[in-house]
Amino acid sequence: ATPMSVMVGVGKAAEAGVLIRNGQALQQASKLDTMVLDKTGTITAGHPEVTEVITRNGFDESELLQLAASLEAGSEHPLAQAIVESAQARELTLDSLEGFNAIAGHGVEGSVTGRMLLFGNYKLMKDREVDLGDLRTRAQELAAQARTPMYLAVDGKAAGIIAVADPVKEDSVAAIRRLQKLGLEVVMITGDNEATAKAVAGKVGIQHYFAEVLPDDKQNKVAQLQQQGKLVGMVGDGINDAPALAQADVGFAIGTGTDVAIESADVTLMRGSLHGIADAIAISKATLRNIK
Ligand code: ADP
Ligand code: MG
Repeated sequence: ATPMSVMVGVGKAAEAGVLIRNGQALQQASKLDTMVLDKTGTITAGHPEVTEVITRNGFDESELLQLAASLEAGSEHPLAQAIVESAQARELTLDSLEGFNAIAGHGVEGSVTGRMLLFGNYKLMKDREVDLGDLRTRAQELAAQARTPMYLAVDGKAAGIIAVADPVKEDSVAAIRRLQKLGLEVVMITGDNEATAKAVAGKVGIQHYFAEVLPDDKQNKVAQLQQQGKLVGMVGDGINDAPALAQADVGFAIGTGTDVAIESADVTLMRGSLHGIADAIAISKATLRNIK
């Protein structure tokens, strides 16, 4: 590729709101055969909202939300924000939190008004041997509707489920179809549970996904694909996407995401839309075609 044509390509991409760090990345982008997309904040809006509260063992909805929110006040996870916002919308007063601990990829624990709280996914409840009764079935039903269900246990006893929904960005479906038409296999990656991942992937036309991936493991998944001989692009927005973005042959950061993700990426999308990725690939392919 001539330096001039690469410069023109980088310029065209910039006009489309796609900042390419160097000419090398533009040339690599044309050869990618696999594009890994983070789910939360990349395919979805990344602003989950509480949709269902299901209680058991004598707890009521307000109490469940109040306890979960008091606990989540200690967390900065988008899921935590959803819980706290929902409690605020119901004008619930939060109690003070002691001994807070975040369990990566699983949930959170801590003590509120002398009660030991555990809040998170099925894996967490299973590890701590919480008896979920029929809640597991209810959670699976919600997950099949693309909700993310979280269980609350109070002093080791199941108190209920809070489910959140994080809607797919309005143009994710169309942008993913464009990527597929450009010849890329699109793969989704998420820390979320299997059933929710399956439902979201189905909504956006993705066949291949990795679910329940622990934060430190996203990079390994990208490396695995590379070991299979694939040339891999990765798109993400979060701190825990940064190592995977660096590992990828081309890393794409959502510009509205965290600085760490942007610093680890070769390409930054100035807008939230995944169309920027398809634009970058199309421009990259056109640039390389002109050179041959
Ligand atoms: P993602 O970035 O895909 O949400 P994480 O590894 O951060 O992946 O989280 C994976 C899962 O762990 C979440 O879907 C949720 O079930 C649980 N989890 C993580 N953090 C929290 C939290 N603060 N509160 C409740 N559940 C959590
Ligand atoms: Mg994300």
